Amino acid sequence: MRILLVEDDLPLSRQIKTALQKEGFAVDQVDNGIDAEFMGTEEPYDAIILDLGLPQRPGIEVLRNWRTQGNKAPVIILTARDAWHEKVDGFKAGADDYLAKPFHIEELVARLNALIKRSQTQDMGTLQVAGLKLDEAHQCVENKDGVRFELTGTEFRLLRYMMMHPGVILSKAHLTEHVYEYDTDRDSNVIEVYIKRLRNKVGNDLIKTKRGQGYILNKTG
Ligand code: CA
Repeated sequence: MRILLVEDDLPLSRQIKTALQKEGFAVDQVDNGIDAEFMGTEEPYDAIILDLGLPQRPGIEVLRNWRTQGNKAPVIILTARDAWHEKVDGFKAGADDYLAKPFHIEELVARLNALIKRSQTQDMGTLQVAGLKLDEAHQCVENKDGVRFELTGTEFRLLRYMMMHPGVILSKAHLTEHVYEYDTDRDSNVIEVYIKRLRNKVGNDLIKTKRGQGYILNKTG
């Protein structure tokens, strides 16, 4: 899962980024409204955290512009304390959730997870697909036979993305965009390596290769 984090309070932003990375998210950080609007338009984020009080362009304007341009990514806005009108304006502009400052990072992470689940899965429970159970808290996967495997951060993001889109052909380029952060070296051949590692863990026949098209996670194991 790839997240855009827009916050001009840099210590806070770093804190949020660290917490999200621990949860297995890839996080791109920006600190002003202009960059935020650009990144949100150019890159395929699974969710966006948007502070409203931003330099160069107000967050509310950024959000309105994204929605006008058809950007449907789920957005959680960060508002100033006691500024109820910001929440109202935020929802009118197309926000999906809000959090008033100051907040506990844990609450932000929980809300973000809920938001992503709401937007990407019908099933609100644990992520269970094709006989696999993904333990998001511990970044482990349990296979059909009940054997648990630890996952690295990238393996976890890749598998979670595939489990959220079972039965769909996912190209290497598409997977690369959803698994890596913006400034890392995004070589799509690396995906092959990770797919191989995942197959070793979840079973060879679960992830099929569609020659020249990409990969597909079987809906039924
Ligand atoms: Ca701010």
